Amino acid sequence: MIIVLAKNFGRSQKQKLFELLTRHGDSFRESKLGGQQVIVVPETNSNQLSEVLSRLSGIERVIDVNEPYQLCSRNAKLTDTVISVQEFKTGGGSFGIIGGPCTVESEKQTIEIAIRVRKAGAAALRGGAFKPRTSPYSFQGLKESGLKILAKARAETGLAIITEAMNSEEVSLVAEYADVVQIGTRNAQNYRILEKCGEMRLPILLKRGFSCTLEEFLMSAEYILAGGNEQVILCERGIRTFETYQRYTFPVGAIPALKMLTHLPIIVDPSHAAGRAEFVPSLSFAAAAAGADGLLVEVHNDPKNALCDGRQSLTPKEFEIMIKKCKKIAKLVSK
Ligand code: PEP
Ligand code: MN
Repeated sequence: MIIVLAKNFGRSQKQKLFELLTRHGDSFRESKLGGQQVIVVPETNSNQLSEVLSRLSGIERVIDVNEPYQLCSRNAKLTDTVISVQEFKTGGGSFGIIGGPCTVESEKQTIEIAIRVRKAGAAALRGGAFKPRTSPYSFQGLKESGLKILAKARAETGLAIITEAMNSEEVSLVAEYADVVQIGTRNAQNYRILEKCGEMRLPILLKRGFSCTLEEFLMSAEYILAGGNEQVILCERGIRTFETYQRYTFPVGAIPALKMLTHLPIIVDPSHAAGRAEFVPSLSFAAAAAGADGLLVEVHNDPKNALCDGRQSLTPKEFEIMIKKCKKIAKLVSK
């Protein structure tokens, strides 16, 4: 249940409300929804609570939500959440395009790619400075000097910057340079980092954990919203199944399901799902046709020599051709 408070809801009214909830033995949490002050009561022991609350003054609305995730639920907020930073916009009919290298390798490489992805229609540049690598022997990213390069790329191109953080300290550091913090698949259920993201006041791009159900994915997003940060972009990046031919399996059906379950924007990362560049266009077309609110695609000016994920990276030209088609498909399904 979500209790929406009127703007002028006073301290003593709040005290009374908390006492009432405590008397029922209900746990509750203060948060925000659509910019309004709300109290989330995930479960109540009273079957008359809605009725009692609707009689209290200063309570604007009581929303019954039956799912374990509350603030993320489509029932909680009927209008789509739209996230916009710089010229990047996703959700509510806007198809946001993000392109860039898996990892920031040098200033020259990053700026060259930034210029090319912008020309191809991207409004955001994604490049990793802190890289979660399966092997400790692989390149781990340029860290803070990579963030500085990304900030330079924004200054040169006007692209919004998205980059990953892997722990709470990195979230704060990334927020000093970037416009959006990415939480990768491996940290999708790291609840301490999600709590940290809830304290932030910039958008968070949350990838689906590769073994998370949709409900678990939305519960992760709920951590961020419960903390007071409503700006969450969900990213489907493929899940692990018995199939190993592609790197992961892209569950296209997750897109319409998430659109039904939540008001948050959902973008698709076809690159990590496919693991091979030749499959990226087909998965991107499918994502756009299924109603995704955008794409996050790995693009490299020299994929063969990329320090990370070159095998799945498109060249800027391939990206440009693909994005043109994706935009048409998105429009066709009324984006
Ligand atoms: C990435 O975006 O470069 C990345 C590591 O993605 P994921 O967390 O989805 O594996
Ligand atoms: Mn990558």
